Amino acid sequence: MTDEALARRLQARIADEGPLPLDAFWREAMTAPGLGYYMSGQPIGRGGDFTTAPEISQIFGELIGLWLVEAWRRAGAPAAFALVELGPGRGQLMADALRAASLDPAFGRAARLVLAEASPAMRAAQADRLADTSPEWRDDWQAALAATNGLPLFLVANEFFDALPIRQFRLQDGQWRERLVGIAATGGFTFEPGPPGLPDDALAPDLAAAPDGAILEFSPDRAALATAIGRRLADVDGAALVVDYGHGADRLGDSLQALQDGKPADPLLAPGMADMTSHVNFARIKQAAEVAGARAWGPVDQGAFLLALGAEARADGLKRRAAPETAGEIDRALRRLTHPLAMGSLFKAMAFQPAIYPAPAGFET
Ligand code: SAH
Repeated sequence: MTDEALARRLQARIADEGPLPLDAFWREAMTAPGLGYYMSGQPIGRGGDFTTAPEISQIFGELIGLWLVEAWRRAGAPAAFALVELGPGRGQLMADALRAASLDPAFGRAARLVLAEASPAMRAAQADRLADTSPEWRDDWQAALAATNGLPLFLVANEFFDALPIRQFRLQDGQWRERLVGIAATGGFTFEPGPPGLPDDALAPDLAAAPDGAILEFSPDRAALATAIGRRLADVDGAALVVDYGHGADRLGDSLQALQDGKPADPLLAPGMADMTSHVNFARIKQAAEVAGARAWGPVDQGAFLLALGAEARADGLKRRAAPETAGEIDRALRRLTHPLAMGSLFKAMAFQPAIYPAPAGFET
């Protein structure tokens, strides 16, 4: 079950340009017009390729909404600001965030909502969930940031960085070589070693100690986004909250993951049919944003972050008004979001702000 047209397009490109860096292959597999995974079907929800935190419990989006109100107030409650979400999925996070934020009606009045979304199907879902507001859509994060016109920026991105492509390098006989995607004798896609060398900016752990076969991941796209957010915040004020799965320090290892209909798939087997993600290196995006002039806080574990923001009290409040059978569901959902053996510690939160501000909510040590 491959998307033949997309596979042919990638084969033609490889025949023309030679084997592709993983990020180029990944970008086509996800966003090739009309063919990429996000561009054709219903990425999340179609048989449920995966479930995200805002889909598990309304508490997630509500607490993020309150976090945004607090950050906005601390910036002097500007009367006009850009509220940007990157990759809003079905729009649940923003719907819950805006409902919670409506406790301060001035926040909603001041917000200009801009959503970065590549997928037409996801846009339709977002329009549905956010029918009470009037969002503007842009195809990618570059256009979304450009649309904010120098307004103070309040930005949220849950499981967006993990969807931006990465490159991989592999240590082979003492030399780092890029893992390129080429065409196997059988006609399918396969990894093959590129010429020796690592880009200078492939920030890396102790490379000298790396064993043969080690894999180093590096994402110019994620670094570019963190740089852009950092620069914007330093220029126009505001705050950004990034939640994703990943690690707080550099580490070696292959974290590339493809999911098709909720099950692990070979990322090279069926481009366009499976969702591709990989672990976010928070150390790298922190560094990029700080070089650009902002300050990054965390990462803190998602569980600790949500509990610090009052997730338990919110769950108790919901349970008081719920039927007894629903109370158990609320507890289970909260546990799924916060327990270290569920999403609580693999997922992490990182905040970005102008350097003048003290720790934002949930990031005080
Ligand atoms: N934040 C949502 C969805 C996460 S899935 C949630 O928590 O439920 C990633 C989202 O980003 C999807 O909506 C996907 O269509 C979108 N997306 C992925 N890559 C993108 C890109 N390069 N540009 C714009 N949107 C993208």
